[in-house]
Amino acid sequence: KANMNSLDVHRIGVSLLMYDVYNITDLKTDLNYAIDNEEFYLCYQPLINTKTNKMIGMEALLRWNHPHRGTISPKEFVPLAEETMHIIPIGEWVVRQACSQLKSWHDMGYKNYFISVNVSVIQLQQKGFARMVLNTLEETGLTPEYLQLEITETVHMEYNSVISKNLMRLKRQGIKFSIDDFGTGYNSLNYLQSIEVDNLKIDKSFIEDFKSKVNQSIIEMIILLGHKINAAIIAEGVETKEQYDFLKQQECDIVQGYYVSEPILPEKMTELFDRL
Ligand code: C2E
Ligand code: MG
Ligand code: MG
Ligand code: MG
Repeated sequence: KANMNSLDVHRIGVSLLMYDVYNITDLKTDLNYAIDNEEFYLCYQPLINTKTNKMIGMEALLRWNHPHRGTISPKEFVPLAEETMHIIPIGEWVVRQACSQLKSWHDMGYKNYFISVNVSVIQLQQKGFARMVLNTLEETGLTPEYLQLEITETVHMEYNSVISKNLMRLKRQGIKFSIDDFGTGYNSLNYLQSIEVDNLKIDKSFIEDFKSKVNQSIIEMIILLGHKINAAIIAEGVETKEQYDFLKQQECDIVQGYYVSEPILPEKMTELFDRL
């Protein structure tokens, strides 16, 4: 029978901790090769207009197919990539991949859909960010109006003039902006002050428990605020018909979630175009 004393327990704790630290350093190193080894791919999740119940666009969501670990969630590796600055080339790869995918759907006759791409504030902080996006649009032949950028804050970054110049330059060219996970984390109202934001995305934590009085008030408040500033409201994490109906009744403009579809591979997306 195992007879562990507190020192053994402590030893196990330390070795588990070491294991974790080792793995994270490992993952950070592996990020060096991931782009060249073509280990990244994008899934796409439909965005549905609640008035027409039709798909109007999709969000591109990054996946990492790690050679030993299998698929790793962006929740795990994006923060690491932000720390190591790998998020810069990775983010560039994402924009290019998403734009060329949408362009090819447009060329196949699936017109008028837009694509929504997550960008880290670390990317917005780079002087060359706007130029990179505009070059990519030109190279892929996608019209700027079809690109939407979701500002995703996982690290705190003081809102500054580099960020606002990037945003304004892209905005002038017709690119649209969403504030992701609105109401959580570091996401502040600063963005609303300096550019006209096109969408507010209500974080899925509020939708998950939408029956709570507080969450309902927050949802209503975000919708009211959004409409006052001419932004459309997108709710993420919509999993049930009940949530869908509630949001529609609250005049939430767009929904996204497992109720409609999970994020899927591009091949499966073409099937959805005919259905949704
Ligand atoms: P996000 O931008 O808020 O994306 C929505 C997340 O909710 C996605 O997780 C999506 O798979 C998940 N989701 C969608 N519908 C449902 C639902 O009905 N229920 C539940 N429980 N979850 C749902 P995912 O794909 O794991 O991405 C996590 C986060 O990673 C994203 O959150 C975004 O912040 C970040 N991310 C993803 N792709 C990129 C990227 O290309 N660049 C950057 N910088 N961040 C990314
Ligand atoms: Mg997003
Ligand atoms: Mg979101
Ligand atoms: Mg979210």
